[in-house]
Amino acid sequence: MERKKKVAVLLSLSSLLVGTILFGGTLLGEASLQEGSSSHFVDTATHSDAEIIYDVTSADKSIALTFDDGPDETTESILNVLQEYQVKATFFVVGENCRQRQETVKRVFQSGHEIGNHTYTHLRFRGKTQERVVEEIAKTNQVVYELTGETPKFFRPPGGTINDMIKVAAKRENVKIVLWTAEEDSRDWRNPGVSWIIKNVTEHAKEGSIVLLHDGGGPRRQTLQALPTIISILKKKGYHFVTISELLQKEVKVLRPEELLK
Ligand SMILES: [Zn+2]
Repeated sequence: MERKKKVAVLLSLSSLLVGTILFGGTLLGEASLQEGSSSHFVDTATHSDAEIIYDVTSADKSIALTFDDGPDETTESILNVLQEYQVKATFFVVGENCRQRQETVKRVFQSGHEIGNHTYTHLRFRGKTQERVVEEIAKTNQVVYELTGETPKFFRPPGGTINDMIKVAAKRENVKIVLWTAEEDSRDWRNPGVSWIIKNVTEHAKEGSIVLLHDGGGPRRQTLQALPTIISILKKKGYHFVTISELLQKEVKVLRPEELLK
């Protein structure tokens, strides 16, 4: 235990230093690199103040697995794997799927996983009104509350779409927008092959990452098959798995150089 504590302190110190260097502007490549690899701009230096969560500057080797588009036919099998490996994850659920698979939603919650909101109909935002977006978030919050007694705190817009209308709607429904770490997009929704999914997730893992996976929206056998190996490899690398709420609690404040000298 003592050694673990020391490692944790070292890790949090190194996180602070990395954060400081980033803030100081000497490692500007990070932000532009992530921008190039994704349609979502990730400002690593200031993300802790941003309205949108892409990752967290974590004090230790915590990582968050997230599953979108369920509950669906593969969700129960994914829950079995998570149970076997004693891993906690976050499920961004589609409200109308929750109505159809109520027992699965209850199991997700009772197993200690977190439930986030992914709209009611997996909404495509083009041409939709503000009221419609608010309604989609509210209806999903409602069904999750009916089934679990808890209202989701986090919202992931389908497709990772971000605009002012979505931000306002999320604020109105009191949910914080969570996307994912740019390099941690498993692209499993394309069914690119089990080994491809494993490689992409495990090679890019870093402390505080939010990993995007899918338990619904199409056949998810590849994701299911990749999951035990992903978990095993990351555990061997020293990672432990947390929900989004838990990951946010691990967040270390990024200090400016002048604050470090005080
Ligand atoms: Zn989705």
